[in-house]
Amino acid sequence: MEAADTEEDEEETSRGVAFDPDTTIFMSPKIPVHAQQALRKLREFSKQNVARYTWVCAPDCSEACKQAETEGPYSVEEGLSGLAPVPGVGAYKTCKCTIAPARG
Ligand SMILES: [Zn+2]
Repeated sequence: MEAADTEEDEEETSRGVAFDPDTTIFMSPKIPVHAQQALRKLREFSKQNVARYTWVCAPDCSEACKQAETEGPYSVEEGLSGLAPVPGVGAYKTCKCTIAPARG
């Protein structure tokens, strides 16, 4: 009997992660994934000429988050430079809130 020559140990070339060089700046291990997503959103807002964003609280968010929502909207530029609160960043590290474009 002839053994079928099955090569199952193909080299795994795809490690699943392909970083966009544009966003690599936000891929620091110190920054939670949630914050990275929020920052990416901010960059998209910036590209779409959206100047301001509003904080959108998650259903179970903290008092600090509710305050952040109340105090908005914020400047997209300030969010990107760390001057305005961003979900997942700093004091909101464990936060699951999101952001949305603000009109006007
Ligand atoms: Zn939150």
